[in-house]
Amino acid sequence: MFYNVKFTQFLRHMNQYDVIIIGGGAAGFFAAINIAEQNPKLRIAILERSKEGLSKVKVSGGGRCNITHAEFIPQELVKNYPRGEKELLGPFHQFMTGDTVEWFEKRGVELKIEDDGRMFPVSNSSQTIIDCFLSQAKKYKVDVLYSHLVISIKKKKDRWQLETNHSLFTSEKLLIATGSNSKIWKLVEGLGHNISEPVPSLFTFDIKDERIKDIPGVAVKNVSIKVLNDSSPIQGEMSQRDRVVNLESEGPLLITHSGMSAPAILKLSAYGAIELAVRDYKFQIEVNFINLPFEDCLEVVKTLKHDLAKKTVFKSAQFELPKRLWQKLVIASKMVPETRWADLSRFDLETLANQLTKAIFTVNGKSTFKEEFVTAGGIDLKEINFKTFESKLHQNLYFAGEVINVDAVTGGFNFQNAWTGAYIAAQHISK
Ligand SMILES: Cc1cc2nc3c(=O)[nH]c(=O)nc-3n(C[C@H](O)[C@H](O)[C@H](O)COP(=O)(O)OP(=O)(O)OC[C@H]3O[C@@H](n4cnc5c(N)ncnc54)[C@H](O)[C@@H]3O)c2cc1C
Repeated sequence: MFYNVKFTQFLRHMNQYDVIIIGGGAAGFFAAINIAEQNPKLRIAILERSKEGLSKVKVSGGGRCNITHAEFIPQELVKNYPRGEKELLGPFHQFMTGDTVEWFEKRGVELKIEDDGRMFPVSNSSQTIIDCFLSQAKKYKVDVLYSHLVISIKKKKDRWQLETNHSLFTSEKLLIATGSNSKIWKLVEGLGHNISEPVPSLFTFDIKDERIKDIPGVAVKNVSIKVLNDSSPIQGEMSQRDRVVNLESEGPLLITHSGMSAPAILKLSAYGAIELAVRDYKFQIEVNFINLPFEDCLEVVKTLKHDLAKKTVFKSAQFELPKRLWQKLVIASKMVPETRWADLSRFDLETLANQLTKAIFTVNGKSTFKEEFVTAGGIDLKEINFKTFESKLHQNLYFAGEVINVDAVTGGFNFQNAWTGAYIAAQHISK
């Protein structure tokens, strides 16, 4: 009996750390390595619930890990965060994309920039990032404890006390880097923090419509899209005026098997994450396939009526639109494949210009964008000190990564949030 008590005490003693990080994901590893590097004397542990950490890093960017984005001006960088735009400006002045690149390159990970600004390891493999993190954690003797699920968080005197599925852990400082995880959010609520309700962000739109049927893979370089306002009151809670939203985007569009995807859609899904959830992902969008005003388009098609008089409309795709999409829009304009430009009445020309610039589609659900998806929602930003990423409610409690109410559009910005928060928290934790 005496031995058992002693043994338990010994184990407990062993589970005492200076710093504990809950979550062995992007932010957790980045923070642990930086804390250890700044202050090698600290005893640091990562408690990770799964058998292997970094699972999102592994699958990120289609297995290539889009680590950050080649945007080096903080004021521009923040524009990619529907939630967190204001709060991240200060932190980005401390640690942003250029610092990320330097950090990885110093540790032997070379990065490259793609045409659209996304940055990846030159190896094109997320394993390079994982190997870097694991070797750095080992070098600095960070205890990475896998299969350790944290089930309760309490503050006892001046120490954090964490109950896991294995045993009890205590630490002086605690960093929560658990990503979007409802169970941890409940525990954080128990500590007095508010949680903005989580909803998905970065999803594609499900659309069943003859105009895009059977043409998956067709892409348009630059469209503009707006979400039409909803006239129906939702649950009687908000007036129509409250619900008028200004959701518009521009960029590439991709027709998929289930509807529409690519940046023009993903941006809407991010900026509209909350509104579209309220509408249960049932709404209408207006697509301008050629990104020209209706009137300008009408002038062009009027000219074409004369210039291409003897040609069939069906076979003479215009505005650099892919042939298959053009033909779908011509059919939707109530023409037959034999219709010649010369046959078009003013009404026909207007109908065609309408399909090209103001095509309305009904969205009836969402699908996962497999390259990257995130959750909008998390710890209320008002309760975090963005100079340190420390809780404003509890001393020695820090947050980093997706656990806070920050999320970004696709392109490497979500990881940048994790690196920035983790780095700044690490600076303060290691002091
Ligand atoms: C398919 C996919 C692809 C993506 N691709 C990209 C991309 O290319 N570029 C980009 O910028 N973003 C990408 N993202 C988003 C990005 O992965 C996240 O924003 C980022 O991983 C957040 O980092 P994090 O450390 O906050 O959370 P996570 O990486 O999710 O890590 C949280 C960790 O905490 C652990 N955990 C949770 N609860 C507990 C608990 N109670 N006890 C112990 N451990 C716990 C989890 O197991 C997990 O390992 C992608 C997301 C997905 C899903």
